[in-house]
Amino acid sequence: MAKSSFVDFKAVKAAITMEQVLEHYGLLDKFKRGADSLSGPCPIHKGSNPTQFRVSVSKNIWNCFSECKHGGNTLDFIARMDDISIHAAALKAIEWFGLDPGAMSGSSDEAGEHSDETPRSSPPPKPKPAAKPVAAPENSAPNKPLKFRLDKLERSHPYLAERGLTEATVIDFGIGFCAKGMMADRIAIPIHNPQGEVVAYAGRFPGEPSEDTAKYKLPQGFRKSLEIFNLDRALKEPKERPLVIVEGFFGCMNLWQHGCRKVVALMGSTMSQAQEELIRKHTDRQSQVIVILDEDEAGRAGREDIAVRLARFVFVTVHGFGEENRQPDQMTPEEISEITGGAK
Ligand SMILES: [Zn+2]
Repeated sequence: MAKSSFVDFKAVKAAITMEQVLEHYGLLDKFKRGADSLSGPCPIHKGSNPTQFRVSVSKNIWNCFSECKHGGNTLDFIARMDDISIHAAALKAIEWFGLDPGAMSGSSDEAGEHSDETPRSSPPPKPKPAAKPVAAPENSAPNKPLKFRLDKLERSHPYLAERGLTEATVIDFGIGFCAKGMMADRIAIPIHNPQGEVVAYAGRFPGEPSEDTAKYKLPQGFRKSLEIFNLDRALKEPKERPLVIVEGFFGCMNLWQHGCRKVVALMGSTMSQAQEELIRKHTDRQSQVIVILDEDEAGRAGREDIAVRLARFVFVTVHGFGEENRQPDQMTPEEISEITGGAK
């Protein structure tokens, strides 16, 4: 077995808490909080009785008194939730919570420990906040504001109506079909930086493109990981309203059209380090964020990661649709108002 695959389970367990794990699964707000406990329906066997599953917050252990008739620690919980081994659960925890893989490997030469059995002399395990993920340094050159505007965009292109957008929304977002130029034959969508300057146009193919044609085209050199779509306008909304985060342009425009004005799009199902920093910069400990990504594999993986990272500095709620392939651009006004708490 490769050296790096030794995992010091104790070190991983010591570094994470049940609360973090529940938060990761978007479960924390579904549980009732007691003095040192959290209780709710069992997420493992998917029960409904609100007292069947109990977590000790200080001990970081859980128990299901119903169908599972089982309990355990944080890693046991991840292993059961994802139906994987403890070893795989530990590796996931390292990744999700940005733990230092070296410190969790149990194979580090200086420590000389090669197993789960940490010597008694080591400090007692205690939960500590997860460290920041180790990310490759990003080129920090910002996207330059454009010196031109795409004008003469066709606002009444049938594709826009097909996507359910009203004329007012089309005009508000400044989008439209581009007949010529770099976004020729595409719906041009201006992307603004937080100061409200246009830094790029994205080009959406109006319809289902053939295999050799990209759905979206972005200008060369533009780094979308540095921007959050519609953030400039979301920032003008009242501070106490929740910030809704979706994946795509059309999801963002749909929510906006139906009155949820404090909405932004990551332009993908992952959140870059720079996007995380942007959100951190414009929020505080009292801020609320609602994450609504597409209900597919990428969306589910993305929202888990995003929730864990944002939960370090804001209140995060994750919305899952529970129906494969549903996404924010298909949400009805009722759904939007229900999920965002009528957030305007
Ligand atoms: Zn259970």
